[in-house]
Amino acid sequence: MKKLIIANWKCNPTTLKKAKELFDSVKKITKHLKDTKVVICPPFVYLSELIRTSAKSLGGFVFGSQNCFWEKSGSFTGEISPLMLKNLGCEYVILGHSERRKHLKETGGMINKKLRVALEAGLKPILCIGETKTEKEQGKTKNILKQQLKEFLDNSMAQLVVSEVEPSLNHLILVYEPIWAIGTGDSCNPGQAAEVLSFLKELLSVLLNPEILKNIQILYGGSVNSDNGLNYINTGFDGLLVGAASLTPEFPKLLTKLI
Ligand code: PEP
Repeated sequence: MKKLIIANWKCNPTTLKKAKELFDSVKKITKHLKDTKVVICPPFVYLSELIRTSAKSLGGFVFGSQNCFWEKSGSFTGEISPLMLKNLGCEYVILGHSERRKHLKETGGMINKKLRVALEAGLKPILCIGETKTEKEQGKTKNILKQQLKEFLDNSMAQLVVSEVEPSLNHLILVYEPIWAIGTGDSCNPGQAAEVLSFLKELLSVLLNPEILKNIQILYGGSVNSDNGLNYINTGFDGLLVGAASLTPEFPKLLTKLI
């Protein structure tokens, strides 16, 4: 399976012109990638135009959105549905990002509903989980990750195993994003991240059947740049979620190392 490098542009840039320039700088490199796929996640407002103008590009990249709603259509002012995104040409959707949990007060239950509908609409969810600095210092990392997975995937571990959602979970991308590492420059030590990776694999192996498990990719995110990115891939992660650095020349530099 190809490694996934996800560019989360967050609420940037502020003009379509800059978004196109940023996309062009990435596109130049992606056409040379063989074993890596780049998922570009711009703000909603740029998706349509970037997808349209990229139709004749050489590839190596696809598009994702940074969020979606938990219904396919209806009276939900201001919301964007997973079906709209799928029909537009989006392949992935980021769900459960800690910034949405913090600033938009998204709960585990909301993320669980979004995940189900995103899967139904045919989007591949990029599900983020991670602990805070305090939780890490209190030695609670594993419990927190287990609890988040339980809430996001279903509301009960037992149910998850037999859940009707399970068959489509093979499109799931799980990202370990320690909250204390996001946007701080304080990236997780690759050795510690690898320990979490083993734990997540073990946890998923109890929850899901091997057929589904073999398709699930686990990524690392949190202050990734061109210097540290490869360390996570070398310790066994299936890719990276890149925030701030995806808006700078750091990103093409990181991708160049993956050619
Ligand atoms: C993120 O957006 O999820 C992220 C990891 O951001 P950054 O790379 O800036 O830490």
